[in-house]
Amino acid sequence: MRQLGILGGMSWESTASYYRVLNQGVREQLGGLHSAPLLLHSVDFAEIAELQRRGDWQAAGQVLAQAAQGLERAGATALLLATNTMHKVAPAIEAAVDIPLLHIGDAVGQALQRQGVRRAALLGTRFTMQEDFYRQRLAERFAIEVITPNAAQMAEVDRVIFAELCQGHFLPPARAFYLDCLRALQGQGAEVAILGCTEIGLLLDGLDASLPLLDSTELHVAMGLEWMLGS
Ligand code: GLU
Repeated sequence: MRQLGILGGMSWESTASYYRVLNQGVREQLGGLHSAPLLLHSVDFAEIAELQRRGDWQAAGQVLAQAAQGLERAGATALLLATNTMHKVAPAIEAAVDIPLLHIGDAVGQALQRQGVRRAALLGTRFTMQEDFYRQRLAERFAIEVITPNAAQMAEVDRVIFAELCQGHFLPPARAFYLDCLRALQGQGAEVAILGCTEIGLLLDGLDASLPLLDSTELHVAMGLEWMLGS
C-alpha cells in the first residue's frame, strides 16, 4: 500500500471520519489485520478559522503548505486535504510539494459525472458556496451547474457549520433546516445535493432527504483509498 498524508483538524470531527473510514476501507479490501498506512498533520482549527475570517488566505495557505512539506518528508506519497473550504489554497499547497494533492472537488466532480448529473445543489461554508474555487472547478472540469441557497439560508448554513458542526453539535433544528434548504434547491431544479462541507454528512447521516446526497467526505475518502491500494 502507498502511504497517504492527511491535512486534518478542519475540523477534527470530520478528520475522525476520514481516519475511521480509510481504515474500514482497507480492512474491507485486504481483510485480517490490515489497516491504512497514514500520516496525519492535524492543525488547531481556531487559528485557521480566524485566518479565514480575516480573509488572510495567504497565511492559511502557508500554514498548510508547511504542514504538507512535513508530511512529504515523513514519507507521504499523496495528500488528502480533509476540508472543502481550504481547497481555496490548494494551489499554494501543490506548489510547495512534489506529491499529488488528491482534490476533493475532483472526487465530487467525477461522481457527478458518473451519475450523469448536470445541475447540483451545493451546501458548504459561505466560502465554498459563494467563491469560484469550488464551483468553477465543477463547471469547467465536469460541466456541472451548481446552485446554492438564497442569501439568508446561506448565512444560516454557514453559521451552523462553524457554531455547531465543527464543535461537535449535531442538532435536530439544524437537521430540519438543512433538509428545508435541500427541498427549496430541488424546487429550483437540483438533481442531487453535494454535501460540500466535510461535517454535513455527520448531521444528515441516515436521514431521508428529498434528493440524493453526495457526501464530499465519502467520495474523498474513496479517492484516497484508491490511491493507497494502487487500483
Ligand atoms: N470542514 C468544512 C469544509 O469541508 C469546514 C471547515 C473549514 O472551513 O475548513 O469546508
